[in-house]
Amino acid sequence: MNKTKIIATIGPASTDKEIIKDLILNGMDVVRLNLSHADYSFCMDIIDKVNELNKELNTNVAIMLDTEGPEIRTGKFINGEATLRAGEMVKIVKEEVIGDKNAFSITVPQVIDYIKHNASIKLDDGKIELKIVDKTADYIIGEVLNDGIIRDGKSVNIECSKTKIPFISKKDREDIKFANMMNVDFLALSFVSSSDDILEVNDLLIELGNDHISIVAKIENELAIHEIDEIIRVSDGVMIARGDLGVDIPLERIPGIQKMIINKCHQKGKVSIVATELLSSMESTLRPTRAEVSDIANAVLDGVDAVMLSGETTVGKHPILALQTMEKVIRSAEENIDYIDLLSKAMRTEKQDATGLIAYSVADCANRLKANAIVVPTMSGYTARKMSRFRPSCPILALSPDISTVKSLALNFGVYAQKIDELNSFDKIIKASTTKAIDVLNLEKNDKIIITGGYPLKEVKHTNFMKIEEI
Ligand code: PGA
Ligand code: MN
Repeated sequence: MNKTKIIATIGPASTDKEIIKDLILNGMDVVRLNLSHADYSFCMDIIDKVNELNKELNTNVAIMLDTEGPEIRTGKFINGEATLRAGEMVKIVKEEVIGDKNAFSITVPQVIDYIKHNASIKLDDGKIELKIVDKTADYIIGEVLNDGIIRDGKSVNIECSKTKIPFISKKDREDIKFANMMNVDFLALSFVSSSDDILEVNDLLIELGNDHISIVAKIENELAIHEIDEIIRVSDGVMIARGDLGVDIPLERIPGIQKMIINKCHQKGKVSIVATELLSSMESTLRPTRAEVSDIANAVLDGVDAVMLSGETTVGKHPILALQTMEKVIRSAEENIDYIDLLSKAMRTEKQDATGLIAYSVADCANRLKANAIVVPTMSGYTARKMSRFRPSCPILALSPDISTVKSLALNFGVYAQKIDELNSFDKIIKASTTKAIDVLNLEKNDKIIITGGYPLKEVKHTNFMKIEEI
């Protein structure tokens, strides 16, 4: 069993139930549905299939819905496209027009007020670049820096101090309501730029009566990097969304930013996810490049919680093979993780309270005893998350009577969560923990497990016991 979790995005190449089943059997922990592309009927169909498969296979694959975010896109063009040539001038106008090579509209015209002279605008993920040379109240004029064809609805990336557009767009508001209705486990928020954006969504979820969806903030631009500490503080997890991030900032800065974010998340006990182009060559080929294999392994060695497949599983030719490759590379990289180093790093930034000290002791003890598993009976998942932060070398088996808690642990490094019946005595907890561990992890005589948690389960909010059991 891998400890690093795998998210796979589902798309046209992976809609068949048999393919989803194969993805689950090969180690997919979380299904991502990207609302920038997928419509509601597609999402409902996939969620139904995953629910059915979870029952058939006795698995707990979780669902992540990913919003489009406050993205700015191009408006419509005559015949759907226009050819822009280097050296020519093009207007971006506030008024809604059918565009051509001389002028076009964008979906959030009010940003035109905030664009600075000399700013750069990147169209279609950076394929065409404009430099702003003039500005009026109604339009801006950009000089085209390189030839290209621009089409309807392509991304518009604007360099400006702070885009004053509301974070929750009309589409996102509907999409968040849909996420709540479908009772998904994770909501990934595209293009966040401050902690306020996340708090705003949190308020909306509370208004909708939702108390369990975990929020993953996608870091896709420079603004979010400036606010990273605050964003991590208010989120359940953070995604290093290298696709859009690599359009907004120079590519060469990404590896350093990735390491910085993984480290900060680890310190704060929040989930980190590395996304985009981890195996993109496998969209068409049967083998990954050496660079891709190194990229995945380095993320694992740095202590990431989860890695994500996008094009590889949505439109690629070999979705299953890509997932199997990911799994193999992770498994091999995990053999080289320096667990002692991660444990001491975690302890240096841990509160010296009962929960922190017991979790540290359990991880340390498990490493020294070469325990086969740490078993955590938990209501909210709190102790399991804490254990994961200490990165013990053995798996963490989290047991909860609450299925939302079970699913919410799908992204935490090293945690396997399972549903159990309500447990109301200490003896029952110990017995059920041992039985489940033997069953799930195929333990044998003389194997050791450490059971830790807070007892009574529903009453205490902190961890207060550890018990070592020999099978
Ligand atoms: P996306 O996000 O696939 O939804 O664009 C990930 C990224 O930008 O890397
Ligand atoms: Mn993105």
